[in-house]
Amino acid sequence: MQLLPKIWLSSPHMSGNETKYVQDAFDANWIAPLGPNVDGLEKDIEKFLKQGNHVAILSSGTAALHLGLLLLGVKAGDEVICQSMTFSGSANPILYIGAFPILIDSEKDTWNLCPVTLEQAIIDRIAKGKRPKAIIAVHLYGMPFKVAEIMAISEKYKIPVLEDSAEALGSTYKGQNCGTFGQVGALSFNGNKIITTSGGGALVCKTLKHKEKAIYWATQSRDDAPHYQHSEIGYNYRMSNICAGIGRGQMEVINLRVSQRRAVNTFYVEYFKDHKEIIVFQEPSTDYFSNHWLSAIILNSFEQREALRLTLEKENIESRPLWKPVHLQPVFAQYPYYGNNISEGLFEKGLCLPSGSNLSKPDLQRIKLVLDSFFN
Ligand SMILES: *Cc1c(COP(=O)(O)O)cnc(C)c1O
Repeated sequence: MQLLPKIWLSSPHMSGNETKYVQDAFDANWIAPLGPNVDGLEKDIEKFLKQGNHVAILSSGTAALHLGLLLLGVKAGDEVICQSMTFSGSANPILYIGAFPILIDSEKDTWNLCPVTLEQAIIDRIAKGKRPKAIIAVHLYGMPFKVAEIMAISEKYKIPVLEDSAEALGSTYKGQNCGTFGQVGALSFNGNKIITTSGGGALVCKTLKHKEKAIYWATQSRDDAPHYQHSEIGYNYRMSNICAGIGRGQMEVINLRVSQRRAVNTFYVEYFKDHKEIIVFQEPSTDYFSNHWLSAIILNSFEQREALRLTLEKENIESRPLWKPVHLQPVFAQYPYYGNNISEGLFEKGLCLPSGSNLSKPDLQRIKLVLDSFFN
């Protein structure tokens, strides 16, 4: 039997103008990890985020999180709090520095960092003689975390927030853009994100000084001298001017991409109205506006989730279990975890469905037929 073309979970969606910016880079021979497209993409994102932020374009979201932790002064041996329900890229940079991850469960409304558990953990760490140096909070699948509650705890205990907004460009909380709430924020332009530079990321800073420091570290910490002079450890974390050209073409259509992803989410919400036992991941109130980077559902059991995933796979349709919580990953199993089984339950029964902004009407029809055959 001939399979129909693959329907991906989230695939790149070009605007058509990317090649114009990439051609500009070739024409000017700016084939380097700096140049007009890098500067232009920084301006594009600063304009989009508003609030007077300073953006450093980097080689990945993970690099942005790494430099974000350094900007917050995290050093080897420090404790860093991190949401457990997330991609490992949120937590790996803690280990790059030799710092010590403290993993925290999610709450049910946004699937993100639970404010109650967060505060309990902070009190417990302080009682043990270790005040955490930073809090990494994530906007999972584009859903804003409980910003007011989390930022209040951050202020109360004077622990800064590193905002992992890798999945949430175009999401807002009370009208303000995700990526701009923490002392530092990280964005990702990996191939599967809402917009892409094939691979890349950005650090959102509150001051020009922070941005300049991040770029200094990202370009091997070159001191001001005619020869190569280094008084700090550096990294090779800047983005290529070619990739940044792709990003410039993508930023022209970011608002359109958000509305297209949200339309896919509406398709699932409408579909599952007739299947009340299935939960579709939705904003808990109008304060929250998700870009719905990925649409996700919670099924009744692990067995049902796996059965649906395999049924879709047979029809050449990609779906994927939710992020496996970091504290359940072998490489993080030895670190403390504070929780109430929320993230474990989400992982057990949750499934991400095809969510790309480039899904066609016939694609959605194909998905609907498979869902019909499975649920009816
Ligand atoms: C994608 C992602 C990252 C890492 O970004 P890269 O650009 O792939 O390095 C970090 N955190 C979350 C939540 C992500 O989804």
